[in-house]
Amino acid sequence: MNARTGILLLVSGPSGSGKTTLCRRLANEQEAVYSTSCTTRPAREGERNGHDYHFLTRESFQEKVDAGDFLEHAEVHGNFYGTLKSEVLDQISSGIDVVMDIDVQGADQVRDCTDAAIQSALVDLFVMPPTEKELRNRLTGRGTDTEDVIALRMKNALGEIEYWPKYNYRLLSGTHEQDYYQFKSLLVAERLKVSRLIAP
Ligand code: 5GP
Repeated sequence: MNARTGILLLVSGPSGSGKTTLCRRLANEQEAVYSTSCTTRPAREGERNGHDYHFLTRESFQEKVDAGDFLEHAEVHGNFYGTLKSEVLDQISSGIDVVMDIDVQGADQVRDCTDAAIQSALVDLFVMPPTEKELRNRLTGRGTDTEDVIALRMKNALGEIEYWPKYNYRLLSGTHEQDYYQFKSLLVAERLKVSRLIAP
């Protein structure tokens, strides 16, 4: 009676929009599982392999591209990032909701994907920083990146923001609690969709 397919909650937004924190909190509260991406960028202090990312060499990343293991992959800030099909497909067909934090190029690829299960599961959301000034503050305040990295991320962020009209949902970031309330509400509402129910 209550069986339904899982939701693929795809979240994009520039660095500093707060999207990763939102996705992680949703996973920590066991509302959805987090799709752990592969990346060729070096791990930041405190990041754990297999939890924050699967950290790969460029060679092993390319092997996975060639093997067709990725649902999507893209070059972001000079490194490669990709979502493994194995992080998503079985979960959504078993009725488990998955949250993925990916860039705008990856989102285009997921939207263009012809897999019917992905298409019916997909809910795409763009998290928008409130102002350019606040975005700069957030990027500077993180304290984990160099000036050059911050400048590159700021430039990329302003480019990424242009993509928001491609998404079905947009969240204008305010306080963390306001953002999370809206974020979780979107997931809760999507769970009520009749088209996700599996007939007994
Ligand atoms: P960071 O290096 O700060 O963790 O992430 C940089 C950017 O890469 C973020 O915009 C993040 O959403 C994006 N990203 C993380 N994982 C993936 C992925 O699997 N695919 C794509 N296309 N982008 C990703």
